Amino acid sequence: MAAEAETFTSPPGPMVPEPWTVLSKRQDTADTWTLELEPVDGEPMSFEPGQFTMISAFGTGEVPISISGDPGSDGGPLVHTVRAVGLATQAICAAAIGDRLSVRGPFGRPWPTSELAGRDVLVIAGGIGLAPLRPAILSLIGERERFGRLGLLYGGRGPDQLLYPGELEGWPDLGMDVAVTVDAAGPEWLGHVGVVTRLVARAEIDPARTAALLCGPEVMMRFTVAALRSAGVVPRDILVSMERYVQCGIGHCGHCQLGPTLVCRDGPVYRWSELERWLAIREL
Ligand SMILES: Cc1cc2nc3c(=O)[nH]c(=O)nc-3n(C[C@H](O)[C@H](O)[C@H](O)COP(=O)(O)OP(=O)(O)OC[C@H]3O[C@@H](n4cnc5c(N)ncnc54)[C@H](O)[C@@H]3O)c2cc1C
Repeated sequence: MAAEAETFTSPPGPMVPEPWTVLSKRQDTADTWTLELEPVDGEPMSFEPGQFTMISAFGTGEVPISISGDPGSDGGPLVHTVRAVGLATQAICAAAIGDRLSVRGPFGRPWPTSELAGRDVLVIAGGIGLAPLRPAILSLIGERERFGRLGLLYGGRGPDQLLYPGELEGWPDLGMDVAVTVDAAGPEWLGHVGVVTRLVARAEIDPARTAALLCGPEVMMRFTVAALRSAGVVPRDILVSMERYVQCGIGHCGHCQLGPTLVCRDGPVYRWSELERWLAIREL
């Protein structure tokens, strides 16, 4: 009997999903929504920029989604920006205010923003990749005086595919230069057109001072790394957030293996110097 009582009072482990309620929901683009969640009866979640949770609309699979909220908003809602691409993400995006989702986490190695004090920081995002970078951007801006130059280069498929347009306009006033480019646009678009790597080629980069944070489709990150390397930035100063098939989130199942590492445990944020050897192997 004593053993049973102990089982019931033990705190939930990292594999036990907790119910969270949808507090608010905003449609960002045709296929992407931002949800704010609050715990049904647990504590608000503390997290570091770049970490993710495993989230599910019960019965449709559990998927890794980065936290896109402000890490400084202690006790605030848990924020996720989700692109509906398949069964699990469509069900999460279809959740209504008041619905419950299951959440585990936070998991993963964060962006090492505190180690970047004194450096110029160049954030480079493609598409939905701005979501995992938003907490890092908010941290950098929140402690603006600790860093050198801050810049964001952001590429999207079209003007209506860009995330957080209000913030993209506001961040320059908070000390971060912002350049946006789209793959294609009509005449109403007065900004850059072309891939984000072109913005890297135009950026004024002091390689000795610069650290770069990258998140986007893997092909975009590979080309962006090449452009940064051409500008003289060393692999150790290039940080990337990688995606693989994360399932357990805690380094037990091995589904998200990347070379000798597990993305859920050793990533998703890596220094390029840790990965370049493995990513040179085709289809790894
Ligand atoms: C650490 C991490 C953070 C992520 N953060 C976000 C985020 O902030 N917002 C967001 O919209 N998406 C994010 N993703 C991607 C998201 O997990 C996948 O889109 C989701 O798992 C797709 O599941 P599905 O059932 O909806 O689609 P499926 O039908 O399973 O697949 C649709 C597409 O998504 C890809 N995919 C499926 N499962 C995964 C997986 N576990 N990891 C990576 N790709 C997958 C498939 O190759 C396919 O192209 C993240 C992935 C990882 C690994």
